[in-house]
Amino acid sequence: MGIRVRAIIIGVSLMIGAGLLVVSGGMNPALPAAIQQEDKAAGNPVEDQAEIDPKAKIDLNLKPNEAGKIMVLMYHNLGKEESEWVRTPANFRKDLSVLYEKGYRPISLSDYITGHITTEPGYAPVVLTFDDGNLNNFEYLENGLISEDCAVGILVDFHEKHQDFPLEATFFLTGERPFKQAGLESQKLNFIIDKGMDIGNHTKDHPILDKASGDEIQAQIGAQAQYLQTMMNRDDYVINTLALPFGTRPKDQVLTRYLAAGTFQGVPYNNMAVLNVGWNPGYSPYDKRFDRLVIPRIRASEMKVDNVGLYNYLDYFDRNPGERFISDGAEGVITVPEGKKDFLADFSGQEVYAY
Ligand SMILES: [Zn+2]
Repeated sequence: MGIRVRAIIIGVSLMIGAGLLVVSGGMNPALPAAIQQEDKAAGNPVEDQAEIDPKAKIDLNLKPNEAGKIMVLMYHNLGKEESEWVRTPANFRKDLSVLYEKGYRPISLSDYITGHITTEPGYAPVVLTFDDGNLNNFEYLENGLISEDCAVGILVDFHEKHQDFPLEATFFLTGERPFKQAGLESQKLNFIIDKGMDIGNHTKDHPILDKASGDEIQAQIGAQAQYLQTMMNRDDYVINTLALPFGTRPKDQVLTRYLAAGTFQGVPYNNMAVLNVGWNPGYSPYDKRFDRLVIPRIRASEMKVDNVGLYNYLDYFDRNPGERFISDGAEGVITVPEGKKDFLADFSGQEVYAY
């Protein structure tokens, strides 16, 4: 439902921007034919052409490749001393700057899994995630301001200075008292949602799920979803993404379905996305091999990353630019180099443009 709300908002803003005409690329079924004819006659020729064929707007010099891979970055803590699971605030700022300079732009996890990618043409989408919900992810100071050195503070500040770097990140929270400041739980959750960022499920007790029973899995996911939902206390946002603690899945394949959906104490939950811990960039959401219930993540750090960390993959994409997802900037069209076409799934409602 979080996804649906976002999609509706985007649809409305498109309609306003385009004067109700270029919503779906073709004739607007909501308007009587006579009015559509009239609008067409009055419109200017360039806009009309784009309306008929959204491909006309695509700049192939930017080498769009919407079959390319997308990095989902996994952060845990920010802190004074860099370690395997801790990034210093300075290094996190460096990461954002490097991503920005190299042409990466954050998108939400929900836009990734639904293939609703509105990244500017020529740029590469990237997904930012934070696990565990520690204080260093989101801290209010005694004066009521957000700490400049917590993840939320740094992200908001970076976005204010670089408006073309969207404020998108998902915080996966485990247990009660997310972000570890008593009494501020609701305020923090709602701040994140109101800013357009996201909250995800990281289970109630952060267990290793390999040997858990179906009931235990459903309790861990369902209880946490219900707790976060209660703390948010709003009906326009639903917790529907899960990051697996330690990246561990149930050994019994039959139980895997409870990661996606289940019921706890009579209340159902549904997860649109399930995220792993390692080790590689994710497939394009338009790729046949893309599985929203098995999304790999890249360790966004520099220590003990076993050559599969953020900077390893930044280098990899620098050396192999054809592997990177590059947006065409056009809605309703999936633009790919000719050789990549065979990897595409049948993505309903979108036109494939191979060049
Ligand atoms: Zn964790």
